[in-house]
Amino acid sequence: MVKKRLVLKFPHKLLDKPIVYKLIKEYDLVFNILQARITPNEEGLMVFELSGKKEDYAAGVKYLQDNGVSIQPLSQDVTRDENVCTHCGACVSVCPTGALTVNRSSMIVDFDPSSCIACELCVKACPPRAMKVKF
Ligand code: SF4
Ligand code: SF4
Repeated sequence: MVKKRLVLKFPHKLLDKPIVYKLIKEYDLVFNILQARITPNEEGLMVFELSGKKEDYAAGVKYLQDNGVSIQPLSQDVTRDENVCTHCGACVSVCPTGALTVNRSSMIVDFDPSSCIACELCVKACPPRAMKVKF
């Protein structure tokens, strides 16, 4: 039996395809969706826990990858280097979960790691590279 938390990124062309239904029906996997969003660049983003028999899990993951879905484990930690962050706000609009928000009274950008799903969108968006991924 395998049970893993994963982050899936669906390209726009796959958003209306019954991918999740197929995983459950054809690969006999148990699918627990933890978060689902459409990102600002219209990519589907889903965090879920997937469990099932080892062979079914492997076949289901292959099915996703063959269909252009990007998969990454939710074991990465995203951190912010407070000495580098300039609170420019560039990361706020790309964060799909609201883990990065602007405090309107202080105009400081707050980072809430507990809401972070390690999608890494802020890492690319941050001009001084303050957002980092630990493996
Ligand atoms: S984009 Fe980078 S520098 Fe700007 S607020 Fe976000 S973490 Fe800080
Ligand atoms: S990796 Fe960055 S953009 Fe993605 S959820 Fe975490 S803080 Fe938000």
